[in-house]
Amino acid sequence: MSVDEQVSSYYDMLLKRNAGEPEFHQAVAEVLDSLKIVLNKDPHYADYGLIQRLCEPERQLIFRVPWVDDNGDVQVNRGFRVQFNSALGPYKGGLRFHPSVNLGIIKFLGFEQIFKNSLTGLPIGGGKGGSDFDPKGKSDAEIMRFCQSFMTELHRHIGEYRDVPAGDIGVGGREIGYLFGQYRRLANKHESGVLTGKGLTWGGSLVRTEATGYGLAYFTNEMLKAHGAEFTGSKVIVSGSGNVAIYAIEKAQELGATVIAFSDSSGWVHTPNGVDVAKLKDVKEVRRERVSTYADEVESATYHPEGSIWELPCDIALPCATQNELDGAAARTLADNGCKFVAEGANMPSTADAIEVYRERGIHFGPGKAANAGGVATSALEMQQNACRDSWSFDYTDKLLHDIMSNIFKTCATTAKEYGHDGDYVIGANIAGFKKVADAMLAQGVI
Ligand code: NDP
Repeated sequence: MSVDEQVSSYYDMLLKRNAGEPEFHQAVAEVLDSLKIVLNKDPHYADYGLIQRLCEPERQLIFRVPWVDDNGDVQVNRGFRVQFNSALGPYKGGLRFHPSVNLGIIKFLGFEQIFKNSLTGLPIGGGKGGSDFDPKGKSDAEIMRFCQSFMTELHRHIGEYRDVPAGDIGVGGREIGYLFGQYRRLANKHESGVLTGKGLTWGGSLVRTEATGYGLAYFTNEMLKAHGAEFTGSKVIVSGSGNVAIYAIEKAQELGATVIAFSDSSGWVHTPNGVDVAKLKDVKEVRRERVSTYADEVESATYHPEGSIWELPCDIALPCATQNELDGAAARTLADNGCKFVAEGANMPSTADAIEVYRERGIHFGPGKAANAGGVATSALEMQQNACRDSWSFDYTDKLLHDIMSNIFKTCATTAKEYGHDGDYVIGANIAGFKKVADAMLAQGVI
């Protein structure tokens, strides 16, 4: 059987065994496509059922999360934790609270996390979790009761050497606080290494809040330099206005760019003179309002509830909201308008069609599993500080983050070149991330 036939048969089996999970299929298809290149060169990576084991989570947990709302009514949500692969270290990956969450979405995120965590060079495995709970419009007390109920089940399955969750969409510092409080109460110990993204006075790390957005800017900067470009003087679109987007905007502007637009799920804001980051933080982080409020309060900004953010001409696009937010048509519009670089702050924001367009139109593309790895890398730095009961300065931690992102870019670039696909950072990221995990799995036997 040729490598192509072998990989197609793995994929066909995966489709049958995981019906109705299109995001998971999409994430696996992209990785398997890159792995054909490895298997043609190093066929031993198909031994011992390695690829089939890699695509099957070690453990998948689904649980009921009942809670009482402010009216005294009982609400029932569904909780998930997918512990995908622990060959390199404890499972590590965020929790997402969003009404769109289902098992397939958590599996796609957990699968991506394996390779991302491997690329950081730090000893962490891959996992992901969350719930279909919608935090929008809920009171603080409702958020707290939900988090307490969620952790009442999850606490049995996590631990500093077992599985270390963090935040993702809908889970920030407030939610991590309530989750940690309930864990501490149930476990009867202050086990700081059990969650990351904690508050600074109780085991959190400086730079964790900024890490994914800053890391994305550091990665993008390396990609720009490799192609003779720079942030200075460039126009950048950042989709989203959450944790990743805010700090990507902040760092891109510090490095000399003008961020000309950002968004939320209701619309986008055009900011031709750049973003007032202090105002954006006030609107989103302090007041928890919509992006339209920013446009109401900043004279040069305009709010657009209709149309696509990707229609504005730009040099660099940084999708930082959610999966599949940038499709083939949007990618063509970006290319037609002269965009030369796309780097993903979100997980899988580009559809497979969009990635094809980047390749055809010569857009340099940094995939999420490499470009947004700064968040989980800094979570691993938080785990290191917890393990030695230390806390590092902002500058020291930021320098480590910067070096990790530069190394990830170099690893993607050199691996792509080594395998005959110079400049294709998707292939570089997938192959480099895969080989480290695969070597560990082969060394540890069939488990
Ligand atoms: P936040 O909850 O802080 O912000 C999410 C942002 O994306 C909001 O502006 C939200 O708008 C928008 N958004 C969410 N869902 C949709 C949707 N279906 N359609 C349009 N817009 C949407 O999340 P983060 O910033 O933490 O996460 C953003 C992305 O980055 C996700 O893909 C996440 O997996 C990824 N990521 C996050 C990391 C982290 O450290 N936080 C690490 C690595 C990746 P609205 O408020 O209207 O919903």
